[in-house]
Amino acid sequence: MKLCFASNNAHKLQEIQQLLGPPFEIVSLSDLGCTQELPEEQDTLEGNALQKATYVWDHYQVLCFADDTGLEVEALHNEPGVYSARYAGPARDNQANMQKVLTGLEGKENRKARSRTSIALILEEGEQHLFDGIVEGHIIETPRGEKGFGYDPIFVPEGQDRTFAEMDSQEKNQISHRGRAVQQLISFLRHRYVQTGT
Ligand code: IMP
Repeated sequence: MKLCFASNNAHKLQEIQQLLGPPFEIVSLSDLGCTQELPEEQDTLEGNALQKATYVWDHYQVLCFADDTGLEVEALHNEPGVYSARYAGPARDNQANMQKVLTGLEGKENRKARSRTSIALILEEGEQHLFDGIVEGHIIETPRGEKGFGYDPIFVPEGQDRTFAEMDSQEKNQISHRGRAVQQLISFLRHRYVQTGT
């Protein structure tokens, strides 16, 4: 069963294919022949995920899902949130984005933050589902770790003393925002399409 993940991020595509397994076959945007950047013009993560999935459905009529991720920092009025990728400007520079968060938190005691991933799934005309993965945590003062990407070097998830960038991907995926949203998506799809024999 073909399911498009509206992304060309090879790492994310492979991870989801491994987690889902048969009978699902994950196809990317480029597999569909889609080369343009998908629209992300909404002011919420859910809105952007839904906009991207809707674009794929409207243009290719395939079952599809899309994700959008953001870091919400309490003392920064939940910024950067939906603007996480371009927080410091259009260059999508991870270092500059992290620095902007650190500068914004200078002198502030409250360093609470949460990472969120929203996944929108479209199964047919008019049938949409949303899955939300959240991990609470806090922002440290100096980046640590070389793994992961984005804001990982400054985010320590609750109950841990290491940043996401100090964990290997398997460990991160087990507790991360995206991991949690993907697990919900997988449970939903398997429940709906895979015979359990019970
Ligand atoms: P996207 O929705 O996956 O394109 O992510 C939007 C922005 O959020 C990215 O540019 C990254 O800066 C950040 N981001 C996404 N996923 C993660 C993550 O797992 N850890 C840290 N930052 C992330």
